Amino acid sequence: MLALQGDVREHIHALEQAGARARRIRRPDELDSIDGLILPGGESTTMGRLAAVFGLLTPLRERIAAGLPAYGTCAGMIMLADRLADGAPGQQTIGGIDMTVRRNAFGRQVASFEGTVEMTGVDGGPVEAVFIRAPWVESTGPGVQVLGRISRGDTAGRIVAVRQGRLLATSFHPELTGDTRVHRLFVDMVKG
Ligand code: GLN
Repeated sequence: MLALQGDVREHIHALEQAGARARRIRRPDELDSIDGLILPGGESTTMGRLAAVFGLLTPLRERIAAGLPAYGTCAGMIMLADRLADGAPGQQTIGGIDMTVRRNAFGRQVASFEGTVEMTGVDGGPVEAVFIRAPWVESTGPGVQVLGRISRGDTAGRIVAVRQGRLLATSFHPELTGDTRVHRLFVDMVKG
């Protein structure tokens, strides 16, 4: 767990339910001992700034480029984006997924909402999805697999779950629902 900021504890709980052993990462040398990394929800500009201050941005980019599996939820999805549609001035991401992400994309009126998302790679019916000032994926490069979209309403069709190789990202927060299937998918990716 990248533990600079955000909903770290909820993810650790979900990871443990999914059969993984979790530890908190705050320093570059701590990256050496992990098989996979989750980037939590929170606030992406703050997370990026803290990652820079803690000397983690470059090591994270290098480890991810070298194949470290990673899963980002919400702000964590933003951190894994190669491009932001409307990043804050100077906002830094780690990158890794060939996609453009729009922050706070669902706008003010629906800043937070819940729904269900049919997610490729997750069996047993749609995933309960909690969106909190969530981003969406505006566009993806050829190597990115779209795993889930909004199914109805004004924003129907918007991309909210993607995978590129060993990198996974969702706009929503499976760690808040008690449904551990997305964490299990990630744990399987790490094992694979
Ligand atoms: N809106 C936040 C951001 O831009 C993300 C919100 C979240 O992680 N729940 O960083």
